[in-house]
Amino acid sequence: MEIEEVTSVTSRAKQEALLKDAYGRAIRDLRISVTDRCNFRCFYCLPHGEPPFAPKAQMLSYEEIERAAEVFVALGIEKIRLTGGEPLMRRDIEMLVAKLARLKAQGLRDLAMTTNGYFLPARAAQLRAAGLDRVTISLDSLRRESFARITGVDALARVLDGIAAARDAGFKPIKINVVVVRSYNEDEVADLAAFAREHDLVMRFIEFMPLDAAYDWSREKVVSGREIRQRIERRFPLVPIEEERGSSTAVRFLFADGAPGEIGIIAPVTEPFCGACSRIRLTADGQIRTCLFSTVEHSLRDVLRSGASRDEIGAFIRAVVMKKEKGHRINDPDFVPPARTMSFIGG
Ligand code: SAM
Ligand code: SF4
Repeated sequence: MEIEEVTSVTSRAKQEALLKDAYGRAIRDLRISVTDRCNFRCFYCLPHGEPPFAPKAQMLSYEEIERAAEVFVALGIEKIRLTGGEPLMRRDIEMLVAKLARLKAQGLRDLAMTTNGYFLPARAAQLRAAGLDRVTISLDSLRRESFARITGVDALARVLDGIAAARDAGFKPIKINVVVVRSYNEDEVADLAAFAREHDLVMRFIEFMPLDAAYDWSREKVVSGREIRQRIERRFPLVPIEEERGSSTAVRFLFADGAPGEIGIIAPVTEPFCGACSRIRLTADGQIRTCLFSTVEHSLRDVLRSGASRDEIGAFIRAVVMKKEKGHRINDPDFVPPARTMSFIGG
């Protein structure tokens, strides 16, 4: 056999070994929730009062997460994002970051974290040193009162310090997530775009999804991606970034006047992108969810704790991926929101 032929057979074999769902979508992106706890109470995510947190014994240990992640990476997962709840609430998360960063030798290309930013002033440098590649920080308002109204915590200044700390630690680009909700912050969209220009940030505006713990979501509260774009363009004309969108959730724009920063618009409600979804999720208590809106979960924790071999864990993951839903059905008349809401799933 010629060398080229051998190479193409090997790469074909590798391709075939990768995770694919029943609709032919390649699964390359794993979100791992490391805790369901959070120090914020964003109204669109966690309920006020005492939320039904999972008992500690049900949470995956760092060793269990590492073992699962190793198998996922062997199956072709290229990106891992740590999330929660608030991932920095989990003790010594830098240890897990360091363990997962080692998987870069085995095919992992990107290790990221989504955080509310509150603990970043003290932790950004350690996270970077442990091997974290990227950080996304949530920031829904630049007005102190409105920030507190949305998150339940008077912590705007601290989160702004967290963004600065992430920059000082060398994270670049820094992405900011803004959930836009009618009558809370839609009037701030252009101000947040101005903030992106001033600080050279990737500002990603996200439509409000029916994953709030109060089950108070309504279509009237959704500010569409289209409206978000119009609100920004009234002040700052945008030019779309010409690219294959691939499995990216965001439609991306630059500022037409060449100012620094980038805008991303994520519109899962009004412009679903399920057809190109490459994501799968592992909850803090070890359940695989094949979609944010799944109504069923698959216990990887039971498999891990049964002493299964790597091959058996891999076979379980493959079988679960085949059950990935075609789409989220938010817009169907019989849509039922999942029983577990955002902070318990891992956003
Ligand atoms: N605590 C971290 C944070 O807030 O960045 C990570 C977890 S949080 C669940 C991940 C992302 O989900 C955040 O950017 C948050 O704004 C977003 N999110 C939470 N609930 C949402 C909802 N109902 N609709 C849209 N995005 C939501
Ligand atoms: Fe906590 Fe993040 Fe949910 Fe806000 S969005 S309550 S910070 S998990």
